[in-house]
Order: sequence, then C-alpha cells, then structure tokens
Amino acid sequence: MVQRKPFVGGNWKMNLLTADAVALARAVALTDDREARAVDIAVFPAFPYLGAVGSALGNAVQLGAQDCSGEKQGAFTGQVSAGMLRDIGCCAVLIGHSERRHGLGENDALLSRKVTRALESNLIPVLCVGETLAEREAGRANAVIDAQIRGSLAGHAETALSTLVIAYEPVWAIGTGRTATPEDAAAAHRAVRQTLSDMYSARFAEQTRVIYGGSVNAKNAADLFAREEIDGGLVGGASLVAADFAAIISAAASAS
Ligand code: PEP
Repeated sequence: MVQRKPFVGGNWKMNLLTADAVALARAVALTDDREARAVDIAVFPAFPYLGAVGSALGNAVQLGAQDCSGEKQGAFTGQVSAGMLRDIGCCAVLIGHSERRHGLGENDALLSRKVTRALESNLIPVLCVGETLAEREAGRANAVIDAQIRGSLAGHAETALSTLVIAYEPVWAIGTGRTATPEDAAAAHRAVRQTLSDMYSARFAEQTRVIYGGSVNAKNAADLFAREEIDGGLVGGASLVAADFAAIISAAASAS
C-alpha cells in the first residue's frame, strides 16, 4: 500500500492584520520537529501578508496563497499570478475554494486554467471540491464531486499532477461547526479516488493526497485523520488559534 504523507493547511481567509499574522506564523513555526517531518504543513494568509508571514515561518512550514489568477501575466487588474506567488516564496495555492466557486461564481473551466498556472510555477495545487447541503440531500454528493474534479482537471495529464492535493470540503460543513462524520468524509474521499482512478489510473488515485475540510477542530481531527482515506485537513477557523492548529497537526502526525 502507498504511504501518503499527511498535509495540513491553515486557511486564514480574510483575517488577521500584520502583527497578528506574524505572531501566528511564529507560533506555527514552533511545531515540534518530529511532527514537522511527518506532516506537510502549510498556511494560507491573505495576499498582502504573504511576505511577512513567509519570513516568520522558517523552513518547517510552507507558505501558500488562497488563490491565483488563471492568466499568466498582463492587464488583469487586481489579480495575482502564480509566478508572482512563487517569486515571493509560495509553495502551494488553494484553487476553487467554495467561497470562490459559490461566493464568486468561479467555474471549472477557470479553475482548470488556474491549475495550469499553478503547475507551470511549481506550486502545489490544492484543488477544493464539495457539495452543497441541497446536493447532498438530493443524493447527488458523489456526482457533484465527480463533475467538479473532471471539470477542474480537464486537459491535465496524470504525469503533470504528481503534486496535486484534493481538499474535499462539503460546503455545508465550512465555517458552520457542522463536521462531516469520519465515515461520511471517508466515503466521499473514496468517491474522489474513484474519479481519479477512472480519469487517470488506480495508481494515481492511490498516490494522490485527499484531505478533508469543514469545521475541523482540535477535538474532531484525530477521529477524522484516523481514517486511512483521509490524508490530513484544510482548516479554516481553528487554524487562527495557534494551540488548536498545533493540536490538529499533532493529530495528523499521530495518524501517519
Ligand atoms: C476552509 O476555509 O477551507 C474551512 C474548512 O473552514 P472551517 O475549518 O472554518 O470550516
């Protein structure tokens, strides 16, 4: 069986000003060496703080951005390119977070271009997928996840996607305090891998990390990460509290 290294990301969203962002980055940088070796840890601050947070993080924790443009460069006012993110030290980028898919109407065609831009710049694409509550209640969760993955990865060859991380984030669980049960999350992760297997190969599906996001906290992380299908988490609210994020990293390290 393939060993997948856990990935734990802290999505800081549109929170924290300089002093608090740097203080939190310094606290995350203090992660125990053994845990930092066992887990890929990344934080995703807002764009203006990437430089300051990157300087405060040190080597054990990766810097990530919450989004990138689907364009390479040019007249795209307000957008930030993957090349710029790489240039200032980012290693990873979130693509298709539900607050962008659903909040800003980003579609799969655009997200596929963003994946292209991320890969061109050697950024790990953390592709977010997940169903709404209405879609789950209509029994369409797996179909929605399947369509999002197929659309967002359209045109991408398996060989180019070796760093891909998929974040399964049911929309109804993000920021709501309502977490998917480990069983439901694991079932969704199996559905993600089934799609990857159908699109590419069983081997690719087995190697690709699939992480869970949606109200992960210091208390529920261990039960989620204990499932072999779940390779870590994308954490919003709890990543803003250093002790809670540390506990989530510990849970991922213990499960590895
Ligand atoms: C997220 O922002 O990706 C997220 C999962 O948020 P929260 O942990 O607050 O639900």
